[in-house]
Amino acid sequence: MSKGIFFSFSPTLLSWHKTVDRPLPWKSLNDPYLIWVSEIILQQTRAQQAIPYFLKITERFPDVKSLASAPIDDLLSMWQGLGYYSRARNLHHSAMVIMEQHAGIFPNTYDDILALKGVGKYTAAAIGSFAFGLPYPVVDGNVIRIISRLFDVDEPVDTKEGLAKINHLVEEIFEGKKAAKFNQAIMDFGATVCLPKNPKCNECPFEENCQAFHHGSVLQRPIKIKKLKRKKRNFNFLLFENRGEILIEKRMTKDIWQGLYQLPMIEGEAYTKSKMLSKEIQNKFAISSEIKPIYTHKQLLTHQEIHSIIWQVSDPPKAKNQFEGIWVAKKKLKDYGFPKTLTLFFEDYLYIR
Ligand code: SF4
Repeated sequence: MSKGIFFSFSPTLLSWHKTVDRPLPWKSLNDPYLIWVSEIILQQTRAQQAIPYFLKITERFPDVKSLASAPIDDLLSMWQGLGYYSRARNLHHSAMVIMEQHAGIFPNTYDDILALKGVGKYTAAAIGSFAFGLPYPVVDGNVIRIISRLFDVDEPVDTKEGLAKINHLVEEIFEGKKAAKFNQAIMDFGATVCLPKNPKCNECPFEENCQAFHHGSVLQRPIKIKKLKRKKRNFNFLLFENRGEILIEKRMTKDIWQGLYQLPMIEGEAYTKSKMLSKEIQNKFAISSEIKPIYTHKQLLTHQEIHSIIWQVSDPPKAKNQFEGIWVAKKKLKDYGFPKTLTLFFEDYLYIR
């Protein structure tokens, strides 16, 4: 491992960063609230996709107070398409905590920022450094990849020991006095040069020092031992329609998409025969209707693979009030927050945009 890079990394990184033009609306902000919102959106979303969401959410909720006092459904409906809705729920919850416990003023210590729901070490370091200049380095997947390659780390980074090694190396190259600039620069470096699949080594200012480049192991870094296992789930959504209205219900259970709306749903078998499902529908809704599949969709989440079928139920339920759900006029459906599968279905099948 080259020791020289410890001393030259930060100045080289910062002077490289001066040549980079990656304008994003949350860069150079110093309002901790706006930085927080951007970092929460960016937790699972690419920067380009995040831009319109960041702009519309912060226009509607320009400060902690406006967010804390709004109904959660307003935020959830604006979050549609971003996925990982727990981020929105945590954001809303934390806004209320800031109002109650910090008199509406965004906390300015690392520990208080870290205590906010939905904020992990990475996000606390990003908010703390960008908003208050706190000397904490960001360590996310991008930084882990860069460090693994620079120092050709051959230990799996998804083990305690491997991650401890990465953290130690980050501490060695981190320049705490320029925390905000350093963190922004290393993020941009990971997003534009040291890319996961096609790193631009021939444009890289660290090519001479990069150990993985010299050993020909760039694409084998970082090493991971755990393979992601996704749980397969089958969702059968039922389309009940009556005089231009659709029956929907709110997902209340502690599960994915909690707080969003959906068509009435039966989870279970991958029904290949509608007869089997018809029986379940009869049991659940006390009706005997013909059903037919009209739409299928597969959605991959980090730990789950969701196979959805939307079944059209020929007869609408006779007594409206016997269901817990609510009947909504088709053109009003866009006022509610739905999982991506159903938003796509409404757009493709019901032409609601
Ligand atoms: S030389 Fe290639 S692998 Fe090494 S830090 Fe630069 S871009 Fe990443």
